[in-house]
Amino acid sequence: MTRDDYKWYLKDSRWIVLAKYVKKRDGVCQYCGNDSNLNAHHLRYISGRMPWDYPEDYLITLCKGCHEKEHKEQKELTRMYNNMKLILKSSEIMSKLKNG
Ligand SMILES: [Zn+2]
Ligand SMILES: [Zn+2]
Repeated sequence: MTRDDYKWYLKDSRWIVLAKYVKKRDGVCQYCGNDSNLNAHHLRYISGRMPWDYPEDYLITLCKGCHEKEHKEQKELTRMYNNMKLILKSSEIMSKLKNG
């Protein structure tokens, strides 16, 4: 997995809308109160879901610094990416089964 493999979802309009909503709701970084360079961050993971397919209370706003620190500890994106690969794989299998 390269650094850019997982980033495609950041450009998905469904993610953009949800991230925008979360940032507007929180206004500042929920860890340090910084109000610039904000990102939406997943607090928990639901297996089998795409990044935008989460209830809003699973997401919080973090500044870039806190977000990067959190990711080093949680390896969030690796987990998210592996999760998405599983979803895509199973939907591939499902469509193969459907189409015979
Ligand atoms: Zn995050
Ligand atoms: Zn912060």
